[in-house]
Amino acid sequence: MRVSNLFTKTLKQAPAGEVAKNAQLLIRAGYVYKEMAGAYAYLPLGLRVLENIKQIVREEMNAIDSNEVVMTTLQRRDIWEKTGRWSDDVVDVWFKTKLQDDTELGLGWSHEEPIVEMMKQYVHSYKDLPVSLYQFQTKMRNELRAKSGVMRGREFVMKDMYSMHTSKEELDGYYEQAIEAYKRVYERLGVGADTYVTFASGGAFTKFSHEFQTVCEAGEDVIYLHREKNIAVNEEVLDEAAAELGVDKAELEAVKTVEVGNIFNFGSQKTDEMDLYYTDADGKQQSLYIGSYGIGITRMMGVIAEKMSDDKGLVWPENIAPYRVYLVSIGEQGGKRADALYETLKSKGIEVLYDDRDERPGAKFADAELMGIPIRVTTSDRLGDSYEYTERASGETLVLTHDELLAKLEQSQ
Ligand code: ATP
Ligand code: MG
Repeated sequence: MRVSNLFTKTLKQAPAGEVAKNAQLLIRAGYVYKEMAGAYAYLPLGLRVLENIKQIVREEMNAIDSNEVVMTTLQRRDIWEKTGRWSDDVVDVWFKTKLQDDTELGLGWSHEEPIVEMMKQYVHSYKDLPVSLYQFQTKMRNELRAKSGVMRGREFVMKDMYSMHTSKEELDGYYEQAIEAYKRVYERLGVGADTYVTFASGGAFTKFSHEFQTVCEAGEDVIYLHREKNIAVNEEVLDEAAAELGVDKAELEAVKTVEVGNIFNFGSQKTDEMDLYYTDADGKQQSLYIGSYGIGITRMMGVIAEKMSDDKGLVWPENIAPYRVYLVSIGEQGGKRADALYETLKSKGIEVLYDDRDERPGAKFADAELMGIPIRVTTSDRLGDSYEYTERASGETLVLTHDELLAKLEQSQ
C-alpha cells in the first residue's frame, strides 16, 4: 500500500474531550475516528489491526473445534423474558427499539439467550453433541460511562463462543481447554506475561467463572497479586478467596487491570430455564450443559495501544501491526530505489506501507513512529546503494546492503 493511496490522516493533537490515551493515540495515528463517546469508526489501518487480532483468536477457537457463525444484532424480547433478563433492572445496559407495529426488540449486548433458542432447532439427541460455536459480533451496550476510549465502547466487537455438552464433566473438560486456548491468544497478542486468570463471582474454587485481566495503568479493575505464589484474585471475591487460599490479604499487591476476557460455566441452569434438552442413548430426556466464553476484540486493541506506546506514538507487536515495514524514500535517487524495493517486498509477501508522498523526511519519520509500524526502511541519495533499517520498539538502526536487508526481513518474518 502506498501512503498516497491510503485513507488516513495523522494529527498533531488529539481532539478535545478525548481523555483516554489509547483513543488519543489511535485517533492521532489515523486508526480510528471518534463519532461520539463510546462509538468509534475503524479506518483502514485500524481495521487491519482488528483483523489481525481476530485472526489469532479465530485460529485458537478453530483449534478447539469451534465453528464460526454470525448471529443478528436484533433480538426478540420473548427469548430474554424466559430467563428474566429482558428487564432493565436486571440488565442495565440494554438498548431497545421497536418495529413499526410496536413490537419491542433488543439490540444484542450478549447472545447467550438467542443462541440457546437457535440450538433448539439443531440439537435433539446426544448424537448432536458436543457443539461449540463462536462469532465476531458488534455488541451494543448502553454503558453509563464511556471514558476509556476503545476499551469501553457503547458499540464494540466481541468474540463470543458458546459450547454445549451432554454432561457436567464434558463441559468442565471443554472449559479447561478454552482456558488454555485463551492463554495462547493472549500470548500471541503479546500480553501473555501481563495477563492473569482470576476466579470471579461464585467463589474461589467453584469455577463458575473466570476473568482474564491484563495489567494496565488505565484499567478500570483491580486485582490482587501474590507474585511468588502466582495467585491472582479478583476484587469481588477478595475476602473469600484469601481465606480459601490461606494467604494474608496484606501480602497481596493491588494492581490496575483491564478485563480482556470472561468465561462462564453455566451448568444446565440456562438451558433448563429455556427448555433446551437432549435425548440420551436410552431415549430419555436429559439436561444440557453450556459454557459461554467472551473476548473483547476492540478492547484488546485499546489495551495494546495503551501498553505498547511511547512519547512518539504506537509500538505494535509484529503479529498485529497493520504493516510490517514502513518504507521511506528521500530524494530522487532514493525514490527510484524505494520504488524498486516496494515491488520486491510485495512480491515476497512482506507487508509494506510505502511513504511515497512529497513530504519532508522529518514528517515521514514522525508519521512512521506515530503509526507504530515495527520496521522502518529508508532509502536516500545520501545512503546510495545502502538501506537504513530501524526497529520501532528498540530504536536500533543498521545500514544494510540490498541482500542483507532482504535476508533480515525474510528471516524475522
Ligand atoms: P466490564 O466489567 O468491563 O463492563 P463485562 O464483564 O460486562 O465487562 P462481559 O459481558 O464479560 O463484559 O463481556 C465479555 C468481554 O467483552 C469482556 O471481558 C471485555 O473484554 C469485553 N467488553 C465488555 N464490555 C465492553 C465494552 N463496553 N467495550 C469493549 N469491550 C467490552
Ligand atoms: Mg465480564
